[in-house]
Amino acid sequence: MEELAAVPGSRQHNYQVLLDEGKCEYGYFQVLHLPCRHILTVCSHARLDWRAHVCPVYQMETVFKVYSMEFRSIGHENDWPSYDGPRIQPNPQLMRMKRGRGGDNRE
Ligand SMILES: [Zn+2]
Repeated sequence: MEELAAVPGSRQHNYQVLLDEGKCEYGYFQVLHLPCRHILTVCSHARLDWRAHVCPVYQMETVFKVYSMEFRSIGHENDWPSYDGPRIQPNPQLMRMKRGRGGDNRE
C-alpha cells in the first residue's frame, strides 16, 4: 500500500493507491486500466516499473497481434452474391430537408 503526499503549496488531494489490488482511490485506474498519475507517482517513488500496471490490452504486442491476421478484400460490389432478404428504407417523413434551394429549414 502506498499513500501519496501532497505537493507543497498545491491544493492537490491525497489518494490512496493499493498497487497490489490494482486500485487507486481516484478511480480512473480501475476504469481505464491504465496507470493514472497517482499510480505513476507511486511507482516512481517506490522505484517500480509502471509498465507492469498497464492492462495487456493496451500493450503494443497485443495491438500488433490484431494486424497479424490476414485481412481479405471484400471485392467489387458487382461480384457480391445477390440479396433476397428484406430491404429497409428510410421513412421520407422523418428525413431532413436538404439545405440550399427550396427554402430555409434552420431551426
Ligand atoms: Zn489515480
